[in-house]
Formats: sequence, structure tokens, C-alpha cells
Amino acid sequence: MSSHNEGKVIAFINARIIDGTGAPPIENGVLLIKDNIIADLGTRGSVEIPKEAKVIDVKGNTVMPGLIDAHMHLTGMRTGDFIKEPLITPIGVFFARAIVDLKALINAGFTTIGDAGSIIALHLKYAVLEGTIVGPRIIAAGLPLSQTFGHGDAHYLPVEWVDYRTTKKLTPLMGLICDGVDECRKATRYALREGADYIKIMASGGVLSEKDRPEYRQFTLDEIKAIVDEARAARRFVHAHAQGSEGIKNAIIGGVKVIAHGIFIDEEGIELAKEKDVILIPTFSITERILEVGEKAGLPEWGLRKCEEIYKIHIENVRRAYKAGVKIATGTDFIGGVFRHGENALEIKMFIRKLGMSPMEAIVSATKIAAEAVGLGDKIGTLTKGKLADIIVVKGNPLNDIDLLLKAENILLVMKEGRILKSNL
Ligand SMILES: [Zn+2]
Repeated sequence: MSSHNEGKVIAFINARIIDGTGAPPIENGVLLIKDNIIADLGTRGSVEIPKEAKVIDVKGNTVMPGLIDAHMHLTGMRTGDFIKEPLITPIGVFFARAIVDLKALINAGFTTIGDAGSIIALHLKYAVLEGTIVGPRIIAAGLPLSQTFGHGDAHYLPVEWVDYRTTKKLTPLMGLICDGVDECRKATRYALREGADYIKIMASGGVLSEKDRPEYRQFTLDEIKAIVDEARAARRFVHAHAQGSEGIKNAIIGGVKVIAHGIFIDEEGIELAKEKDVILIPTFSITERILEVGEKAGLPEWGLRKCEEIYKIHIENVRRAYKAGVKIATGTDFIGGVFRHGENALEIKMFIRKLGMSPMEAIVSATKIAAEAVGLGDKIGTLTKGKLADIIVVKGNPLNDIDLLLKAENILLVMKEGRILKSNL
């Protein structure tokens, strides 16, 4: 834990407090931070403000938990041409750009990100932790696991260029290719060895993989069980890219905790997700942006075509899952550049528009549930006594106007673990 704030007390006063649990907001509230921890909160008068406290008057604006994007990729890419760009650009350039993206995420109020696959995030995590660069807390999968001819096996490249262990050219989105139970166990251990906070697997084909389709099942149930078993042994969880109904069900039965995308989730998948308390991260933002700017940004034709095909059915199926009570968390799948980091609150708006969530429910998805989805439900995500002080101050009331969260200029203050990283108050 950081020592820079030891003995320091900060009191936010005159605040509308949205605590991230879904409880009604506290008007004229006080939030007390001691060191890097939330010490108390409540209405004015119910919280005793110590004499030594530094008082911050938020002037009737909103105090809420820092936002969380639980599925994204810090890649430093700047185009949608994910075939050419990684091959012609040196790896160091991607790192430099990703440092700028981290700053944009902080400015936009994101205090934690779940990186679902990228060696950039895996390595920059240490630079953020040691305080060399400014950024959200990074929870990184690092090297995602894919079968041969899987979503993470870039089909357009020679196979020996794709696996991190054999490639001669480092690119931001490298992974581990493994087939069969033994190779899957070994790849999981390798990902852990490289520093993975959780294990990411590709349990189905996808939109942006050339020769497969979202409906294709990838990895067998036995392979998934082996990966989950290795992850559990090291106290980690598994997060699955799963789009087709068979891949989704295999992943849930196999024991994964988080399902990303969930395009073709069916009734059986929905029941399983509820039964196993699985979190679904639909990542509507990337589909939205691909259809808006994908063509101009150089996305290959086959990717655009598949994206158009799945657009409506994706929303319909996730809506059914949401109505049935499946937990939904925010994740954009943004990679940077045209899929810009800093605009990640778009997913909150998508939940209101496409799923019919209330603004409060969408905020809970971006805080409490997203915290669970990155494995930190007991430490962050709500303004609760004893949790880490990850806090933002938002201009006005986002419950009345959710667009307030989408513009960085409305994020007046950002605090991560008790430390103020941005303030325009
Ligand atoms: Zn992703």
C-alpha cells in the first residue's frame, strides 16, 4: 500500500453521493477519506469531520466510485488495421502511445481497467504501480490462450509468428496457442509466469478473426476445465471471450467467472450464468464504434460484415439475459486510436439505450459489478467503509443526464487509493 497519504484525512462535503450499491443517492453528503481508505460517509451532521481534515467542497456536484472498464485492451494501436499496424510499427511505439491512453483514462474518471489481453498492459502495470507513470489500476490478463485456428490465432499470419513463445516480432496482441489438455495446462502456467492477474481464453470464434465465426466452439470442455483448474490452483479466475451458444455454455460449465460478448447466449446459457453467478460483459461499445468508423479506420471487410450480421441479435440476446437477472458489467473492448480510450463511459450509455437499464443500474454495472468482474469486489467498486478510496467527482447529476459521464471535462476530480490524480475543483 502507498505511504504517501499516511495520516492524511480528506473530507468531501456538500456532495451528492452515489455509492455504487444502487442505494438512493445521499444528498448534502459527507465522505471521509483516511490515508487511502474510505473512513465514513453519510448526510451532513451524521459524519464527524476531524479538525485536521483537508475539506474539499464539491459544491453540490456528485461523488461516486471511480469508473471501471472490465474488458478492454491497452494496445497503443491507432488504426483499425490490426493486420498491418502491429507488423510495421516497433513495439516501443505502442508502449509510448499506451502511456498517453492511460492518462486519458484517468482524466475520464477510470480508476481501474481490466485488460483482457495485451503485453503492453501486462508490463505497464508495473510502471503504474511504482508511480513512474500515471494511470488507472491495471488488472491484466497478459497473454490470452487460444487454440490453433482460434480467435487469438491470427489466421492471416504464419503460425510461428502468433505465439509469444516462438515469435520473432513482438506485437501488442500476442497470445499463447495451445491444443489439448496438457498444452492448455502449460500455457496457463506460462501466462501466470509472465504475470497474469487472471486468465483470458478464447472459447469461441469471433468477429475480428478472419477464418472463423462467432458461432464456432473453440477449446473443448476438457481443455477449459484444465485451464480453470490451473487458474484456481494459483487463486486466479478465468475470463472467456465467448460469442456462440456452445462456447458460452462450455465456458460456464467449465468454471469461468466472466463471459465477454455473449452474442448468441441462449436460454440454457442464461440459466447456467445465473446458477453459477457468472458476469456477462457484452462490450456493445466496440460494435457501435466499428459500425461508425471501422471502414474509414481500415478494418478488414470480413470483420465489418460479421459485425453488421451480429449487431441486432447481440442486443436482443443480452437484453434477454439482463431481464432474466444475469449480472452485467461494463467493458468496451476498446484498443485505443479510433476506438479511443477516454471514451469508455460510452458503455454506460449503451446499457441504458440498448438494455433499458436505469441510469443508477448502469452506474452499478460500471462500478460494483465491474469491480467483481476484475476480481476486486471486496476492495473497490462501492463507497463503503474500509474500501480503497477510488473516487470521482462529476459535474451535476449523472442520474438525470448520463452524458455528463462521457466527457472528461465533467470529471472534476479523480482520486485513486486516496491520491488525487486530477482536480479542477
Ligand atoms: Zn476483447
